[in-house]
Amino acid sequence: MSVPAAPDAEWLWANEPCRAACPVNTDAGAYVTAIAEGRFEDAYLIARAPNPFPSVCGRVCAAPCERACRRGSVDAPVSIRALKRFVTERFGVESFAANTIWHRGHGEVPPASGPSVGVIGGGPAGLAAACDLRLAGHPVTVYEAQDRLGGMMVLGIPEYRLPRALIAREVEAIVELGIEVETNARIGETHSIAELLDRHAALFLAVGTGRARDLDLPGHDLDGVLRAVEYLLNVNQGFRVELGDRVVVVGGGNVAFDAARTALPERAVALRLFAENLEKTFYGFEPDFFQQNVQQVADDVVGLVKASLEIWPTLVEICYFQKSRRGLPQIRVQNQRAAEPRKRRTRTP
Ligand SMILES: Cc1cc2nc3c(=O)[nH]c(=O)nc-3n(C[C@H](O)[C@H](O)[C@H](O)COP(=O)(O)OP(=O)(O)OC[C@H]3O[C@@H](n4cnc5c(N)ncnc54)[C@H](O)[C@@H]3O)c2cc1C
Ligand code: SF4
Repeated sequence: MSVPAAPDAEWLWANEPCRAACPVNTDAGAYVTAIAEGRFEDAYLIARAPNPFPSVCGRVCAAPCERACRRGSVDAPVSIRALKRFVTERFGVESFAANTIWHRGHGEVPPASGPSVGVIGGGPAGLAAACDLRLAGHPVTVYEAQDRLGGMMVLGIPEYRLPRALIAREVEAIVELGIEVETNARIGETHSIAELLDRHAALFLAVGTGRARDLDLPGHDLDGVLRAVEYLLNVNQGFRVELGDRVVVVGGGNVAFDAARTALPERAVALRLFAENLEKTFYGFEPDFFQQNVQQVADDVVGLVKASLEIWPTLVEICYFQKSRRGLPQIRVQNQRAAEPRKRRTRTP
């Protein structure tokens, strides 16, 4: 079979599905092989090459590469993400090497002589774009609405899953390429798009999807019914959120588990997770894989705070929220055994 010099998407899916499934086309096969041969630093550099956030990804990437891994059809997929973490702990920004080997992952930084680019949003998308643009010779300025860079990596994902010092170092390495940063710069309020178009030849919009998803149910706006992303944003910025004695988490994805685990240490709460099609919402894993992971998360949570985690899978639908006589929010549910699954609504940015 002849191999094209620059493989296109079709060739990748047919021959290297893990690489095709990775959002940055990491050559997972090559770094797994390098690890097997004991070439750990090479493995780090292979994982780092297309990705300015290898250390972050080694911890929290949803790892679509593993779902695509062909070994999965034989027994189990290769643990590609865990292997990435193994090499980043030795050579990544969190290791004794700090940012030095990260910087070996790119060539010489060219002078910033190209047309200037403004990047709006300092989350992973904006910072990755800023990194590539700077390495392509553009002067780059990142405008970030918050007082810090990192987007949902710092404002959404809880610290026990993703240490803040690790994010700070990977962000710092990108900024060290010679990228200008303006924080507390909310485009549309502090600066207009027209003003930025005067300053730059092009703008890259990377503002994320920070608005929390609402439930289209009566009572969703009652006091005490919080949106998980807003709750996490507040906690991660150091604000105290009053939760009461018992917490119910609606949903079964990463955000729901993050909200649950963040809420638990606050109080010894009885915690219930509701979700329709729970196994599908949890990153679309197959039921067996999902069950193993839910059990793992449940064990982790219960072990962590000795609280009771009750998971109500798939078959419960919430009808409405109401206020109790004591003014607390209550939740009304019904069983959905015979019901058709609801149509998934897709959010657009
Ligand atoms: C609780 C939670 C847990 C998650 N867990 C995982 C996980 O385990 N694995 C995983 O792969 N993904 C996870 N994600 C998803 C991941 O965080 C996002 O996919 C990722 O952060 C999206 O990156 P982004 O740069 O597009 O947007 P964001 O991270 O949202 O960054 C957008 C940035 O733009 C800024 N901004 C917005 N408007 C303006 C404006 N007008 N002017 C200037 N700046 C502006 C925002 O302040 C923000 O910093 C999780 C998300 C959340 C909320
Ligand atoms: S763990 Fe994530 S970043 Fe790493 S190869 Fe897999 S999909 Fe790509």
